Amino acid sequence: MRLILLIAALVLTPFAAQAKEAQRPVTVLVGIDGFRADYLDRGLTPRLAALAKDGATGPMRPSFPTKTFPNHYALVTGKRPDRNGISGNSMIDPRRPGVMFSLGNAAQALDPFWWNEAEPVWITAEKAGIRTATMFWPGSEVAFEGKRPSDWLRYDQNVGNVQRVNTLIDWLRRPAAIRPAFATIYFDTVDTAGHRFGPDSAEVNASLAEVDARIGELVDGAAALGVPLNLVIVADHGMRATDDSRVIQLDGLIDRASYVPVETGPYAAIEPVTGTDNRVAEALLKPHEHMTCTRKEDLPARLHWGRNPRVAAIICIAEEGWTILAGPPVYPVKGGAHGYDNADPEMLALFIARGPAFAKGAKLPVFDNVAVAALLRATLGLPEDADADGKLADVKAALKSR
Ligand code: AMP
Ligand code: ZN
Ligand code: ZN
Repeated sequence: MRLILLIAALVLTPFAAQAKEAQRPVTVLVGIDGFRADYLDRGLTPRLAALAKDGATGPMRPSFPTKTFPNHYALVTGKRPDRNGISGNSMIDPRRPGVMFSLGNAAQALDPFWWNEAEPVWITAEKAGIRTATMFWPGSEVAFEGKRPSDWLRYDQNVGNVQRVNTLIDWLRRPAAIRPAFATIYFDTVDTAGHRFGPDSAEVNASLAEVDARIGELVDGAAALGVPLNLVIVADHGMRATDDSRVIQLDGLIDRASYVPVETGPYAAIEPVTGTDNRVAEALLKPHEHMTCTRKEDLPARLHWGRNPRVAAIICIAEEGWTILAGPPVYPVKGGAHGYDNADPEMLALFIARGPAFAKGAKLPVFDNVAVAALLRATLGLPEDADADGKLADVKAALKSR
């Protein structure tokens, strides 16, 4: 009998140890590009609704400019675009004359020069010996101080959402020793439908249901593996309807040869060509209908933006729903856009945190998205970054009280 017990103990111990290991929660940051906060109330996303009910949720204020790259980097660094170095989707830098950073310009977008002003959470984690894996996230393809996530992939929009989820589940299936403790996953489809068809379209609604199903698969897949998740589901910004009857054409105000349009759309970033500063400034800095132009140093303090040398000299912000153009549009104006003032309620973004680390049923008042990095660090046992713009105190209500 004693021998049987001894054998049983020897056989069972590794399983018991494995089961214990398998229960260590993995923090998963899910980014749904352009998922406006109130999309959650459309009744089209049952899995997200269930997670919100079982966790903490609330509308989240994006950082200005309400664009993809600056906000994705703010979420993982805890620093606003002025301080995280990704001050726009498109940028110029006086230290790199004649070149422009943009999403489509891989030579610049993948150059660490642009990303090294703030440390993303996956790097902080790796430095602390915590394994990380990124199934897409702006900045995750770029080395920071020579380091990268243990697993990462070069962004490819053609990789479907099913494949993105399956890749993440494969990482969760690994033995504990090589399983990530922190992972990201990113979906672009809701934003793409929002731009092309507008936030109130059937196409956006279909994309919401599709992404919801993928998140359901992620939750179910992790549950089947016995891996608990601390899920943090966020969007970078919202979406607002635009159309070609609400356009501000810069061509009527300034001569195109006299400036570089670093950015156009809901806001315009204008860098005058040397020697023409005064003419460009004079034409723009007076009152206009449906847009406000200021020198970068005169932007309202609440935007926390304009000190970085990468912000162009003159910034024009359109009235909500209006589009600033410099010549013919690159994309059709009719549809949806983001990039407006971050006080615009239609720029508010999704936030849901659900898992063993988080409070159940907590409803958060609007908070700034830079607090998310502090929340991620807390779930990973990393110390709070005193230098960050976002504080854990701003999202304390999302955490389970101990
Ligand atoms: P926006 O122009 O602000 O609407 O940016 C959204 C676009 O960014 C989507 O169409 C994505 O395909 C694209 N995107 C997202 N992540 C990346 C990345 N890591 N590299 C390049 N493009 C990206
Ligand atoms: Zn976006
Ligand atoms: Zn977008």
